[in-house]
Formats: sequence, C-alpha cells, structure tokens
Amino acid sequence: MATRRRPPAHRPDADVWRCAAPVSLSPVTSTKATSRVATRVWPTGLQETPAGELSLRGHALGELAAAYGTPAYLLDIPDLVTRARSFRDEFAAAFEGIGTTCDVFYAGKAFLATPLVRLLDAEGLSLDVCSRGELAVAERAGFPAGRIGVHGNNKSAAEIDAAIDYGVGRIVVDSLEEIERVVAAARAHGVRVPVMLRVKTGVEAHTHEFIATAHEDQKFGFSLAGGQAAEAAAEVLAHPDQLQLLGFHSHIGSQIFDSDGFRVAAQRLIASQLQIAQEHGVVLPELDLGGGFGIAYLPSDEPLTPRDMAAQLAAIVLAACDEAGTPLPHVSVEPGRAIIGPAGITLYEVGTVKPVQATDDLVRHYISVDGGMSDNPRPALYQADYTATLANRPGSAQTAQSRVVGKHCESGDIVVRNQQLPDDVRPGDLLAVAATGAYCRSLASQYNHVPRPPVLAVSEDGVRTWLRRETIDDLLSLEGE
Ligand SMILES: *Cc1c(COP(=O)(O)O)cnc(C)c1O
Repeated sequence: MATRRRPPAHRPDADVWRCAAPVSLSPVTSTKATSRVATRVWPTGLQETPAGELSLRGHALGELAAAYGTPAYLLDIPDLVTRARSFRDEFAAAFEGIGTTCDVFYAGKAFLATPLVRLLDAEGLSLDVCSRGELAVAERAGFPAGRIGVHGNNKSAAEIDAAIDYGVGRIVVDSLEEIERVVAAARAHGVRVPVMLRVKTGVEAHTHEFIATAHEDQKFGFSLAGGQAAEAAAEVLAHPDQLQLLGFHSHIGSQIFDSDGFRVAAQRLIASQLQIAQEHGVVLPELDLGGGFGIAYLPSDEPLTPRDMAAQLAAIVLAACDEAGTPLPHVSVEPGRAIIGPAGITLYEVGTVKPVQATDDLVRHYISVDGGMSDNPRPALYQADYTATLANRPGSAQTAQSRVVGKHCESGDIVVRNQQLPDDVRPGDLLAVAATGAYCRSLASQYNHVPRPPVLAVSEDGVRTWLRRETIDDLLSLEGE
C-alpha cells in the first residue's frame, strides 16, 4: 500500500460555501414534554410552542416555510451530529472492549451532499460511495480518500479508474469481471488496491425477522454456499501485486431491529474467511457487516440504540471468532438510514382536503400536499409507512381517518397511508412528515416536472442551504431545441 497516491489537498471552493453563513430567524420558546412531537419518530430539536406551532431548533416551521417555500426537507443538525457521534463512539468502544477495532462507514446512498460529507469528515466517520457521481461529491468535499469504500455490482472501468486515481481505501468487488477490471486499473496506476469481496451469506434480514437460507437469486455478491466466494478469493489472491484482499463484506438487509440475522451471517463469514486463510496461507484482516440498522417511522417502532446494536455485534463477532478459533478481524459497519433518517423531516403545504366515502362507515380525508412521490417514493416503492403532524397549529381535538397524498398523476402517490389527523386540516396548513432524512432526497425524481425540494440544515444559530431548490429553469436547461 506504500505506493498509494495521496488524496488531493482540501480545496476551499467559494461555490461550496455560498451558504456558509447561516441565515438567522427569530427564535421561539417551546415545550416538548407532552407535545405531539414527543415520540421517537421526530428529531430531538422539533418542539411545540405554547401556541401549538412546531419549531425546529427554535425556528418556527411557519417562518421556515415562508422563507424557503414548501415542500422542503429540514435536517436537524445537532440531532444528526449526535447520531453520527454515537455510532462512531459506541462501535469503537464496543469493539475495543473485545480487543479489536471498528470503523463506521456512512452509506452515502441514504443522502449525500458536500456539506454533509464535510461534517462526516470532521466527525471522523468513513464513507461509502457507489457511483462516479457519489465519488464526485466526496472529492468535491475533500473527503480523505483512505476512508472511502466503493460499492456497486456493476462499476464501470471509468468508475474504477476514478476511484483508484483518488486513492480510495477499498473497493468492494462484486463480480469476476470486476476483479479483472480492478487488476487492469491497478496496473495502469502502478498501485496495489485494497479490496473486499461482497458475499451472499444466505441471510436476509428485515425488522424482527430474518431468513437463514435466503434465496440466492439476486444480483449482489459471490455465493458462500455455492463456492463462488472462495473462487473469487483465489482469483484476487492470484494477483498479489495489484490486489490486497482485506476480507469479506456482507449486507443482510434494511430496517433491522435486532441482531439475530447478523449472528448467522457473521458465523458464516468468519468460518469461510478462516477456510480461505488456511487454504492460501494468508490472513484476511478485516470483516464488514454492512448496514441496515432500523429507525422509527411509526411511534410503535422500537429500533435498537447504537449502543445496544454495537454491544450485540461485538459479542457476536467475539463468539464467532472464538468458535472458529480465529483472531479477531478489524470490523466495519455501514449505517446510512440510522444516521441521517431520523434527523430529517419534510415540510409540506396542504392544498386540498377531500372527504371520501371509503367504505359504508368510513369517510376518509384525502389531504393533498404540494409534493408527494417525487420527493418521497418510498410509500409507492415499498409500501413504507410514515407519520405526519399538523405543523402550524395544534388543530382540532376531533380527528379524522386521513390519508396524506401528493400532487402527482398516480393514485399510488401516497405520503402517509393511514393516520388519525385533526378533522379541521385545511388548505394553507403546514404538514410535517417524520424520518425523511434518508432515501427521500436521494431517491427523489422530477416526475411530472416537479422540481426537487431544497435540503435545509437547521441549527440553533440559523439555517444553511445544503441543497437548493431546483427551478423550472434547471429542468428546461436539459432540453434540446
Ligand atoms: C444500502 C446499503 C447500506 C446502508 O443501508 P441502511 O439501511 O441505510 O443502513 C450499507 N451497505 C450497503 C452495501 C448498502 O447497499
């Protein structure tokens, strides 16, 4: 690794810091104890004022809507920083407790923007990217190359070249073709590239359930059971001048609420790494357990804390290594959603409210907001559930069965499928939707030529624009005559 190129020096870029000075808005006093935003789905900085309006870090949501427009994604920055630090510190402490080390890679696909990458750098986290575009954001932010991991099941030669040129810390290789491409690029650059192998452990986890024999019929990784992982390892080890095999990587699912699936996956990974090490007389010094730690979208969701997840994963790795009789690897984990998701909310304005006779005895209020599946496709994609609240006033104590829908030309354009909301929600009201920090802006589209909303970073000292709102001109600028 001595030949690896140093990453380019950090380049302060006037353009990036255009919004560096936070915009101050007048602070408001708030109460939280008994408020409608007291559950864990809401960021810690969201409070209810005595008048029943919501504020984020002291900024009234009505004032933010007036200043920045709606829809808008709001990120509670102190909440985000606290989450990032707690993952970093709890995983470091838990793995130090068993006699090894652990890095936390933030999964950039959850949400990525230059100021976030700078914040993660300052907090000492590592970063996963999975495309040329994501790598470009990391480069623009001057993120240290050695702390970048590169994912993807179909990285192009150009993407591999860019990653090696920047000097990334590792490439997580996903196919035999890719091994060839990385070898060729390593030769061209005259460097030895650290790689991990993405493997299918057969474990697939979601929320409280996991299956230990998940079907192999999906695109990611080399099969452990089918012997392809061993074959790929042999292929990597056959190119010692170009490739350094760090170990295996697995990502077993998303929105996981307990560690049982990780136990089975870790046992299989560690046993197979040992087999390969013995067969080839090498040490595989690392292990990556992926991400997928769940968050609360509904008040009834009870995710593990970073501390509990870290303690359980450390115990799992220790037990699996003891059982296999193998030394402890350096471990990494890759949370995305759990770091950024709960820190974000989306603020919408209500445009219409339509009572609909849903069944003989149910009148459902269809509340249309000024965004929808373009800024949050998850309900349409995954039937995902969300929680909403009226943001500009408490609303009537009388509630109605409500469905929050968007403005797009699809009946599946749903933001919140089913929730009791005040029965006097009316046009001009503001609605806040919880836990939209992850996989909303990053999955957003311009469907129906609706420009994508801004991402506003909110803290006590003001509001920074992390991503500005798209304009109609932005959309038209792509078009030919
Ligand atoms: C998506 C992904 C993650 C992050 O998943 P979260 O559910 O956001 O924690 C981590 N690692 C890999 C390889 C992924 O594809």
